[in-house]
Amino acid sequence: MLSSLITSGSIVVISLMFGLALLVAWRRFGLERHAALWAGSFLAAAVGHGLRTAGQIWPGQVELFATLACHASVASFALLAWGFRRRASRSSRGVMAGWLVFTVWILWEWIDHSQTWRATSRLLTATGDAYMVGWIVATLWHKRGTGALARWIMIFYGLYAMSVGVAAELARPGGIISDKAFILVLSIGTPTGMIGTGVMTLLIVASDLAKGLQQQARTDALTGLLNRRGVEDAIRALLGTARKAEPLTVVVVDLDYFKAINDRLGHAAGDDVLLRFAQHLKTSLRAHDVVARIGGEEFVLLLPQTPRADAMALVERLRCSVPEAFAHDTNLERVSASFGVTQVRRGETFDAALARADEALYRSKHEGRDRATHA
Ligand code: GH3
Ligand code: MG
Ligand code: MG
Repeated sequence: MLSSLITSGSIVVISLMFGLALLVAWRRFGLERHAALWAGSFLAAAVGHGLRTAGQIWPGQVELFATLACHASVASFALLAWGFRRRASRSSRGVMAGWLVFTVWILWEWIDHSQTWRATSRLLTATGDAYMVGWIVATLWHKRGTGALARWIMIFYGLYAMSVGVAAELARPGGIISDKAFILVLSIGTPTGMIGTGVMTLLIVASDLAKGLQQQARTDALTGLLNRRGVEDAIRALLGTARKAEPLTVVVVDLDYFKAINDRLGHAAGDDVLLRFAQHLKTSLRAHDVVARIGGEEFVLLLPQTPRADAMALVERLRCSVPEAFAHDTNLERVSASFGVTQVRRGETFDAALARADEALYRSKHEGRDRATHA
C-alpha cells in the first residue's frame, strides 16, 4: 500500500514538473501553442495520477476515482497528440474524434457498470492512449527536423500503452495475471514513458527555438532574403557538396542612384523599392540559385553550375528586366542596377571572390551604371 502510494505520488510530482516546465517554455519562448498543449497534457496526467492516489487513500470511492483517472489519461494523451499535430500544422480532427469516442465509451462503461467495467475501462484507456501515440508517430514521420530518436521514443511509448491494454485484459477477474502484477507493469512503465516523453517534448521546444534563432540570424528582416551570414553559410554548403556546384558564379548587384529615391520619395518608399527588387531577383532566378541582401541596396547572387558565358547571358537578361519591373510605378524615374560578375576559383575564399565581383561592380558604376562587368 505505502509503496504504491509512493509510486503514484512520485508520478504526480514528475508530471507536474514537466507540465510546469512546458508552461514556462510556452510563456517564455514565443507562446507556441503546442507547448501549451503539451503542458496541458502533463498537467492532465498529474490530475489523473492524483486521482489514482486519492483512490488508494479513500478506498470507498476507488471506482469513481478510477474512472476519472481513465478520462484524465485519455485527455493527457489526446493533448500530447494535439500538440504534435499543431506543431506540424496538420489537422487534429482524428485526435479529437478519438478523444470523444474513447471518453464517451469509458463513460458508458461506467454508467453501464457491468461486472467487468473496470477491466474494460482499463483496456479502453490503454487503447485510447495507443491510438493517440499512433497519431504522434505518424505526425513525426512526416515532419522534417525532428530526430529519429523522438520517433522511437513514441513508438516504444505506443507499444507500452498497448502492452498495458493486454495486461489489463489478462488481469480481468479470473484472468491469468493478478491485479498486483498489472499495477506493477503500470508503476514501472508509466514513469519511464512519462520522463522520456517529458524530456523529449522539452528538447523539441528548445531545438525548435534554436533553429528559429539560427534562421533569424541568417535572414534579412526587410526582404526575407538571406543576409551576409546566410550567404556565407550557403556558399559553404555549395562548395561542400563534392564540388557539384562548380562552376560557381558570384554576382554583386547594386541599385543605381538609390539614394535619390530615398531623398525624393522618403525612406519608406525606398524600403518598398528594395522589397520589390528583392522579389524580382528571387522570381527571375532558378530555384537552386541563391539570393541575398548583404548591404543597404547591395545584393549577392550565387549561381551554381553556371559557366562564365551562361552567367553573363543570365545577368544581362536580369539587368534588362529591372526597369521593366518598376515601369508601372509612375512615382519612380527609371530604376536600374549595376552588376559585377566573377567565378569562384578553386580553393579561394568567398571573401576573395566577393572582392573581385565588387571591383567589377565598381567598374560598371564608373562606366555609367546600368551595366554588367565580368571581373
Ligand atoms: P550608386 O548608383 O553609386 O550606387 O548610388 P546610390 O545612391 O545607389 O548609392 P549610395 O551608396 O550613395 O547610397 C545608398 C543609399 O541607400 C544610402 C542609404 O541611405 C540607403 N539605404 C541603405 N539601407 C537602406 C534601407 O534599408 N532602406 C532604405 N530606404 N534606404 C537604405
Ligand atoms: Mg547604389
Ligand atoms: Mg551601395
